[in-house]
Amino acid sequence: PLYADYIQQRIRTVPDWPQPGVQFRDITPLLQDPKTFRLLVDTFVHRYMDMQIDLVAGVDARGFILGSVVAYELNLGFVPIRKKGKLPYLTEAEEYELEYGSATVEIHADACKPGDRVLLVDDLVATGGTMIAAARLLQRLGATVVEAAAIVDLPELGGSRLIAGQGIELYTICD
Ligand code: 5GP
Repeated sequence: PLYADYIQQRIRTVPDWPQPGVQFRDITPLLQDPKTFRLLVDTFVHRYMDMQIDLVAGVDARGFILGSVVAYELNLGFVPIRKKGKLPYLTEAEEYELEYGSATVEIHADACKPGDRVLLVDDLVATGGTMIAAARLLQRLGATVVEAAAIVDLPELGGSRLIAGQGIELYTICD
């Protein structure tokens, strides 16, 4: 669609960052342009306004930028899923594998309640590890992940297939 082209045109690929061989998709030009930022937020709001969502969860750190404005526009609360060691209260943690080593994401134990219908937001799906770990945290608290949403999917990295294999619905705007 036209809006997807418009959004995609404002994502910059930075070669060899943060390490040689990585083509990093930089969304800062998209956030910086007011019309594109609004189009992006409106795309998500339009999609989710009739899905009976109770809560929006965003993944550290770019998922906060998008997730919090989408939550605000939907008149919903926002829950941060953070990298290890950042949340002050009781937490649940989920560790997941990276190409080299592992990472851990955490959520506050009282961030949602059983039966809550949650929209999970991040900026990008690569291997899918982050989104799956975040979804598991929500599910462990008894929530239903209605959909995981991101701006970009990098399908060649296999994340979207892995996410689908976990029974999690995924929506992305462009690749
Ligand atoms: P995954 O766990 O799917 O391999 O990686 C996705 C996570 O890493 C997301 O939280 C995302 O913010 C970050 N990430 C990985 N690669 C990129 C990239 O090229 N661009 C951006 N903006 N984020 C990335």
